[in-house]
Order: sequence, then C-alpha cells, then structure tokens
Amino acid sequence: MLRVVVLGAAAGGGAPQWNCGCPVCLEARSDPGLRSTQASIAISADGDHWFLINASPDLRQQLIATPQLQPAAGKLRHSPISGVILTNGEVDAVAGLLSMREGSPFTIYAHAKVLSILKANSIFDVLNEKNVRRQAIELDQAFEPALPDGAPPGIEILPFAVAGKSAWYLEGKVHPGGDDGAGDTLGLRIRDKATGKHFYFIAACADVTDDLRSRLAGAPLIFFDGTVWRDDELILAGLGNKTGQGMGHISMSGDTGAIKTLAGLDIGRKVFLHINNSNPALLPASPERKIAERAGWQIPADGTEITL
Ligand SMILES: [Zn+2]
Repeated sequence: MLRVVVLGAAAGGGAPQWNCGCPVCLEARSDPGLRSTQASIAISADGDHWFLINASPDLRQQLIATPQLQPAAGKLRHSPISGVILTNGEVDAVAGLLSMREGSPFTIYAHAKVLSILKANSIFDVLNEKNVRRQAIELDQAFEPALPDGAPPGIEILPFAVAGKSAWYLEGKVHPGGDDGAGDTLGLRIRDKATGKHFYFIAACADVTDDLRSRLAGAPLIFFDGTVWRDDELILAGLGNKTGQGMGHISMSGDTGAIKTLAGLDIGRKVFLHINNSNPALLPASPERKIAERAGWQIPADGTEITL
C-alpha cells in the first residue's frame, strides 16, 4: 500500500505569505484552517520509511505536524526520512534541505541540473556528503531509491521532463548546470512495486502537451500544478508583474489551463498542489473553488493523507 501525506499545498511564500495583504492572505491570517505551507508530499510503501518529494522552507513545521515523520520512540537520534527527491531547484523545493543538517543519513535524488545548483551554493555543504549522498537521476529512467541500509523500499520512481523554467533566481544568469537541455523541471510517476499502483506528481508545468495528456490518462491519482487561477492574476491584483507563464506555470482556468486540458482523461483523483496565495481557489467559499471542485479537482488541506 502506498501512503501519501500532503505536507504542504501552497506555492512559494505559503499562505499567508510574510509580506502579503491580498484577500487570501488576509483570510488565512485570521483563520488558521486556511493556512497552507509550501508544497511537498511524503510517500511510503511500508509506513515506516518515508521519502519526501521536495523539501520546502516550511519543512520543520511540517515535520512537527506529521507524527509519521518523527523520530521513533526510544531512539536518541533517528528519522523515518530515507531520502528527498527534488523535482526542481526553486527555493520552495530545496530550502528545507537546510533543516535536515543534523547528521542523520539520507539521500538526495535530483537531476544533474538541480544537483549542480546545490553544488554551486556552498551553504548546502552543511549536508555533509558522508551522511547525505547526492544521487543523479535521469530523465525517462526509472529508479528505486534506497533506505539508509541500502535495502529497497518497494517504490519505483520514473522522472520525466515537463515544460518549465529554471529556478527564478537563475533568470538572466548562467545556469551552473549549463543552459542546454531539460532537467530543471521534472514530473514523477511513483509506483508501489508490490501492488503496481501508481500516481503522478507534477508541481510545476508550463504546458499540457498531448504527450503529457496520454501519459496521465487513466492514472488513479495525480498531483498537479495549481499555482494560479488565471495567468495574469498577480498583475490584476497589483501584487507583481509576473504572469503564471512567466514563472513556468499554467493556470487552473482557461482554454490552456489544467481543468480544461486534463478533463476527460479518466483520472481517478485530481489534486492541485503548489497553489499560490494569490489564487482565489484557496478560499473554500470562492466561486473559483466551486468551479474546480465541480470539475473533479481537490484543493488539499495540509496533512491530508491518501492511500493507494
Ligand atoms: Zn497573498
């Protein structure tokens, strides 16, 4: 049985974001039930050993809220977290690694382009490579991450390229991993080897291509990029000058948005993830939330657990 815990559902900054007074952030400040930490999930096939998909800056808070990820009873130093799989190099996907620096062994799995970013930023050297291995993963090559003793966890992960951008802070700069080729934005197919059940994790996606549609058709569960409701919502709200596309994210709504382009694909359960605090679908009473839910999409609360 594959267990998945949504540690956080929000995009960079979370909801509320520290410097934001938009309608969603205002409501989230006054109603704790609307708060959401930055996007990450935890997965396990045996309930004892867990892997994180991305390590958000809110990781410490997420671990406090998630008993499954806390040290086992009676152990002085221990963590059930065996590894972290990174799907991109954005701050909201990698900064949580810095909270995992106290000497416990685990492995970081990421594409060479994302590993090059960690290598180029010496602050990540707090993760001593004696304890924390860094393993490159390849596009379209399934791998099985390892438990700290080297045993297989029963989970197979297939990384694949999705349309996206390099991390925002690299815009206009030389990428430490080179500017050629894919690898900055990954989707993952995660499969329980014992049952064959699988799901998809795609927290950033700039374009739903025909290839992606056929890949996702019939999937029992997908987590998908829900950053913005509409492409220009940050500009319309006066929050900034970035469009969703400019940040490498499609919208929930519209002709090229996730709701429309992923309709009719016989997907069992559709869950939005990486939802920006500007996105009105975060508010349960909003018309946008109702449209998303009527189309079969879920906006998960932090801590939601799903089993496959
Ligand atoms: Zn806001």
